[in-house]
Amino acid sequence: MEKKLRFNSLTIHGGQAPDPAYGAVMPPIYQTSTYAQTTPGGHKGFEYSRTHNPTRQALEKNLAHIEHGAFGLAFASGLAAMDAVMKLLKPSDEVIATDDLYGGSYRLFTKIFEPYGIHFRFVPMQSTEKVAQQITPKTKLLWVETPTNPMMNVIDITAMANLAKHHKLLLAVDNTFASPYLQQPLTMGADIVMHSATKYLAGHSDVVLGALITNDASLAERLSFIQNASGAVPGPFDSFLTLRGIKTLHVRMERHCQNAATIAQYLAHHPKIESVNWPGFDHHPNHTIAQAQMKDFGAMLSFVPKGANHQTAIALVEKLKLFTLAESLGGVESLAGHPASMTHASIPKDLREKSGVVDALIRLSVGIEDVQDLIEDLEQAIG
Ligand SMILES: *Cc1c(COP(=O)(O)O)cnc(C)c1O
Repeated sequence: MEKKLRFNSLTIHGGQAPDPAYGAVMPPIYQTSTYAQTTPGGHKGFEYSRTHNPTRQALEKNLAHIEHGAFGLAFASGLAAMDAVMKLLKPSDEVIATDDLYGGSYRLFTKIFEPYGIHFRFVPMQSTEKVAQQITPKTKLLWVETPTNPMMNVIDITAMANLAKHHKLLLAVDNTFASPYLQQPLTMGADIVMHSATKYLAGHSDVVLGALITNDASLAERLSFIQNASGAVPGPFDSFLTLRGIKTLHVRMERHCQNAATIAQYLAHHPKIESVNWPGFDHHPNHTIAQAQMKDFGAMLSFVPKGANHQTAIALVEKLKLFTLAESLGGVESLAGHPASMTHASIPKDLREKSGVVDALIRLSVGIEDVQDLIEDLEQAIG
């Protein structure tokens, strides 16, 4: 494919070609662990499926294209992808990470990598100044998640990239919440993009898979060495499902964003709602950056009902019928969650509340159903 395709075409065609064997338009699910050799080392580019698998490779090429990267790597989960990035580091290295991070990321950093001697500082990254103040000669990596979960703060990726370049740090961006439909961090100067493809990329709540994308050949080589040596790879069927999901990313995201905008406005005007966190509001503290950096404002939002506490917030999410009470996000179906007792339960209460994740906060992943049905469901639950 010589012609430079636009984003929507890339989701479908990026890195893809009919299968050479029979012309299959979708890559076959090569459900094999090993490949016949004619003589030792005499093979067609595939030896063992931990190292390479044709279905996984088709996905990895597609991932690279949609993030405007040169190299894509697929992992068994988003956290397995992050785990591979952390293995680029050595004991006594320091990482500066976004403060209101996905709970599982915080757990991976503090419970797995701290004991191996890697140090983490969690900083509110809406202020570039605050990040700069935390950089020491031992700092090696900036880990950015934007928009953040569940407070929907937006971090200026270009500013973080400039800071990283100035101090010779790596910049990794968790692009799970936005997806490449909304923002492409490599084009803003990031070194590595990470995805929980479990969410918007696969998009149908039927697979767990992670991804890393980079433009840097030496980073790609080190990461694919780790991918093979540590072995947290996805199977061919999960790779196939993710690739199939990505082909409709752009149409799904468009409707996700429209529905979320309608619901954000509905909640903001509701007399029983105290506050709504969604970067599309003019009064959102990072609205200007969101507008400049993102194509639209995404489909995640959170809100606090008036006078709510832990119990009443839980009662509200339990009353929802069309919104499923569940962990995760980014699927076609709408989900509701209570971060303090679900996604963010592994973050200590004081740290959690400092970044706004109060006990009464409710998070929504807005799906692509008829928005009026979603609003009627919220209406009956809010009461
Ligand atoms: C879900 C998620 C992860 C972890 O990904 P898994 O696929 O569940 O391992 C990391 N970051 C963010 C922002 C997520 O939402």
